[in-house]
Amino acid sequence: MKIAIIGAGFGGMAAAWDLRKAGHEVTIFESADYVGGLASGFKEPNWNWSVEKFYHHWFQTDQPMLDLIHELGWGDQVLFPRPLTVMYHNGKFYPFDSILKALLFPGLGFGLDKIRFGFVGLFLRLTNNWKALEKGTADSWMMKWAGKNVYEKMWKPLLIGKFGPYYQDVNMAWMWARIKARTTRLGTFRGGFQRFADMFAEKLRESGVEIRLKTRVRFIKRVPDKGLLVDANQIESYDKILITVSPNLMAKMCPDLPEDYLQGLLSLKSMGAVVMVLSLKQQLSEQGYYWFNLPKEEGYPFLALVEHTNFVSPENFGGDHIVYAGDYLEEGHEYFSMSDNELLERFMPAFKKFNPAFDEDWIKKVWVFKTNYAQPVPLVNHSKNIPSIETPIDGLYFASMSQVYPWDRGTNFAVEIGRRAARLMLRSN
Ligand SMILES: Cc1cc2nc3c(=O)[nH]c(=O)nc-3n(C[C@H](O)[C@H](O)[C@H](O)COP(=O)(O)OP(=O)(O)OC[C@H]3O[C@@H](n4cnc5c(N)ncnc54)[C@H](O)[C@@H]3O)c2cc1C
Repeated sequence: MKIAIIGAGFGGMAAAWDLRKAGHEVTIFESADYVGGLASGFKEPNWNWSVEKFYHHWFQTDQPMLDLIHELGWGDQVLFPRPLTVMYHNGKFYPFDSILKALLFPGLGFGLDKIRFGFVGLFLRLTNNWKALEKGTADSWMMKWAGKNVYEKMWKPLLIGKFGPYYQDVNMAWMWARIKARTTRLGTFRGGFQRFADMFAEKLRESGVEIRLKTRVRFIKRVPDKGLLVDANQIESYDKILITVSPNLMAKMCPDLPEDYLQGLLSLKSMGAVVMVLSLKQQLSEQGYYWFNLPKEEGYPFLALVEHTNFVSPENFGGDHIVYAGDYLEEGHEYFSMSDNELLERFMPAFKKFNPAFDEDWIKKVWVFKTNYAQPVPLVNHSKNIPSIETPIDGLYFASMSQVYPWDRGTNFAVEIGRRAARLMLRSN
């Protein structure tokens, strides 16, 4: 078969790998001039490693990704350090990434709330019945079972941070999956995710996959007797096509999809993200903390501060210290239209809260990355609203972050859904 894949993110590349191995002719169309999609990175001349534009790490439970890396022969390139995640309480930060640390966290006191927190955590780790949990919201479930105090201190800030105005609409299965899959050790690829993406693209090319960068697909249509047509600079015909872009872009690319499938795509909700990356002359968190969870009501102008070089060594970045300040935001939020300088002015006062000695002089360089498709919002009974991978157009397939469920989206699940889509494409061969 002659197959086109739209998007050279990890989903598209994983699908291409399996389809090519099965002997098909595969072409990937990618609008950017690089591979890796949302997990791509960049590099300064004095850095040996790249830095992801949006903070990225893996969990030890990310089996589809780890399996793929082993299959590609790069298992020795994966590192799993144990960086420190901390939680805010009364102006201070406390380690919060294991059961023991959670039990010692003073934010919940040491009475009934701590016990409820522990039992709810244990129940969610042990149960597999997410289908029952998706029938209600995380807001109401947590309020009922963890109690108002625990919910408001621990879980509500997380939901508000990730889902903003939708925080009361997100279903409890999302929260279950998030708690279930987390590990204290976090993973990365030696050299950064971009190195991994580039190596993967190279391997695909060697195996015969054609990757066309800087090639934006405008339309896809099925025309009787001509097959599936891809319009990207020129019009070409394919037997099967897999699309890995956002549901919104998919709807624009394929306006001939039947109305109910199109409506299904357009009714899916998601959040965007704005992330500032700074290279600093000095370490920001002297305690060596990696990930700071920040409650918005305490006036922080962003949701998370992540000191990447407290996860991987600053030696990989010529001694620079890399810090992310990021937030998930709804479309139209003012951060999307602010200039990099305006954002820096807004964010800078907060850096002193992580280290009172912080000074503007520490900043070597600043980058800002924005995307309007960063985090799907799973509403109640989401499993019934997920668009099928096999679309109603014969030979046309769709695999995006919005179909990853109940697990929270990530490169691991991009690989999983990409490979699942490839299996479906092969089965109906
Ligand atoms: C802030 C943030 C933090 C994250 N943190 C993590 C993390 O810690 N760990 C983790 O594993 N994952 C994380 N993720 C999620 C992860 O990046 C994604 O789940 C994954 O990269 C999605 O891969 P994909 O292939 O499905 O889509 P994408 O990576 O979005 O790939 C789609 C590709 O399609 C291309 N494209 C779009 N339109 C067209 C067109 N018209 N023609 C041709 N090509 C087109 C795009 O340029 C893109 O390259 C994070 C994401 C964000 C935004």
